[in-house]
Amino acid sequence: MEVYQLKRLGLFKGRRKIGFFPLAEIGLVWLSMLLTLVACQSESPPVFRFWDQLKPHTSRIVSEENWRDLYQDYIKKEKNSSKHAQVEREGWATFYLKGKTFEAVLAPPNSVSEFEVKLGRKYVFDFGFGLFRDTWMTNLSNNLRIKFSVSIKTEPSSEPKELFSQLVELPREPTAHQIFFHRLNLAAYQGKRVTIILATEKVGQDKDKAIHELIPAFWINPLVYSPRKPGTVTEGRPNIILVSIDTLRADHLGCYGYSRPTSPTMDNLAAHGLIFTRAFSHAPYTLASHMSLLTGFYPGRHRVLYLNQCLDSSIPTVASYLKEAGYICGAVTDGGQVSHRFGFAQGFDFFEEEVWGNIRWDSAEYIFERSAVWLRRHRDARFFLFIHTYQPHNPYHAPEPWGSLFLQKNQPLKKASLQEILGEGYPHLFQRLSETIRQNLIALYDGEIRYTDEKLMAQLVHLLQELKLDRSTVLVITSDHGEEFFDHSSWGHGHQLYNEILHVPLIIKFPGDQAQGRQIDYPVRLVDVLPTLLEIAQVEPPLDKIDGRSLVALFHSPPEEEFSSVAYLPDEFAAFVPRSIALFKGEMKFIWRAPFSPEAREFFQPPPQEVRLALFNFCQDPAEKRNLATERVSLAREFFHQAEKLLEKMVQVEKAGRSREELNKALKERLRALGYVK
Ligand SMILES: [Zn+2]
Repeated sequence: MEVYQLKRLGLFKGRRKIGFFPLAEIGLVWLSMLLTLVACQSESPPVFRFWDQLKPHTSRIVSEENWRDLYQDYIKKEKNSSKHAQVEREGWATFYLKGKTFEAVLAPPNSVSEFEVKLGRKYVFDFGFGLFRDTWMTNLSNNLRIKFSVSIKTEPSSEPKELFSQLVELPREPTAHQIFFHRLNLAAYQGKRVTIILATEKVGQDKDKAIHELIPAFWINPLVYSPRKPGTVTEGRPNIILVSIDTLRADHLGCYGYSRPTSPTMDNLAAHGLIFTRAFSHAPYTLASHMSLLTGFYPGRHRVLYLNQCLDSSIPTVASYLKEAGYICGAVTDGGQVSHRFGFAQGFDFFEEEVWGNIRWDSAEYIFERSAVWLRRHRDARFFLFIHTYQPHNPYHAPEPWGSLFLQKNQPLKKASLQEILGEGYPHLFQRLSETIRQNLIALYDGEIRYTDEKLMAQLVHLLQELKLDRSTVLVITSDHGEEFFDHSSWGHGHQLYNEILHVPLIIKFPGDQAQGRQIDYPVRLVDVLPTLLEIAQVEPPLDKIDGRSLVALFHSPPEEEFSSVAYLPDEFAAFVPRSIALFKGEMKFIWRAPFSPEAREFFQPPPQEVRLALFNFCQDPAEKRNLATERVSLAREFFHQAEKLLEKMVQVEKAGRSREELNKALKERLRALGYVK
């Protein structure tokens, strides 16, 4: 056990400002030291995932809807033969059950699965188990129960010793499920090679009677790992929590200079950590932006632009890399576009998403509670947790007193929905509202941020202290995009690529007081988050494969390369809004937008202003009020040629995603609530 190495290396002493313009001279060249240490590290204690030792039963995601399909061949053979059918009924699969995605060992009773593992250190065995009733299970008696048991043996020929068993009733309602989690201490078997036996067995019914009715029973991600005392960091690898607060524009946080007290907790974290003052997103909407955050790929490479596209299974997420390095990876998301359907669960041991059709008005609090359950369960593991909430997202309706915290006397709206104000599908997207209403909407939005700060961030900080995880956990806060309040003649997000949309917060709080008060003004990107987290976890970032670059070097020295970035809005992601692209180079930002179609000009009342081309100095003019396109013609032309080339490629990527598949009803409701679907 040792303390986190950044601290040991004496990094981050004192308060310093690292500037983009006045290039500050930085002390410690600790990166090379860190890398040397990485090279000297012994291998981390492995996490043994049992399903790794089995063959995948199917590449499809198993749910209540398709369980029976998976076993059709088996059931047919069983019916026609008195002998045991020679069809695979074991293996593992990814399960999705009402918002929960996990790897599972298939265990239709009666089943026995054995796993061999060498317990070199003190280990715990962590597992879940469960079952659900499928719609076709009409003949099973209601008193049927399934016994789940875990046994262990130390010699191949020795008698297994039962360590755990539980009887689980089959739920009476079709598709209802029961899930349990449990943990066994294997310290008594330290140093031994053991066989762990997972068995399921029908109890209370003639076993032949239900032979054609394979009960959907499973073991959830059984794994053994070496527990550690919370608050300690083994082998220099801290825990990591990545929080994405959807729709959070950077300039509405105190630590980014906002005048209202919207973010005391985040300000405090920034004051004791690293704050990146110029962090930019790659898309003005949730799906593509989060995909860039979690894969380190620009939208053109992860190719998840539309709601019928899913991340290719060959593309690792940050969780995939960390899992490989011995981290246990969990996610608690607010669903909608951050759903397993789009491939977000890839690499996570447990991915939980909200499935309710509407946006919860208390999402921040709810998401915190779900995250707390996961954190308490994994406090002794080395973990990565991704947390996502839609709290600041339209509709602006935070619970009281936060909802009206920043309201002025003359402001009539106590809560607001853009769908109500702009119409379904937003026909009035480009309509100017009175300054009173505009300020009213901003005040409501700011109340959402304050609520998130108190009910998610402050609670999370307290919980980490309570669990003594604050000394071993790196906390990263960011967002996928901001929100427009008619800064550039429209509302909400998903329509334009100005900075009120692309400029997002990025704050990294290291354990203890390391990195105290560092402000980094070099521009950075969301694709840089993945390699940065990997470097913090001492995992070599796959720099040849991804678009991002680790920001760790920026902690102490200026960037080696000139800044460049890309943001993209695909054609008609939002109804009638044409594609747009933004390119960053050095201090300059270029935006190009395709023309609105005649149908769009008819749909929008009033019709949009056509700003096809814009060029800004985003450092000197962060509000993007001065379009330099006509002043700096040759630079604008250079950007335009680059944009043209990129657009050619992006249009090809778009084509693959244009045919809209039927979305599942619940997801459609949720996306409608978020304003994405008409
Ligand atoms: Zn979003």
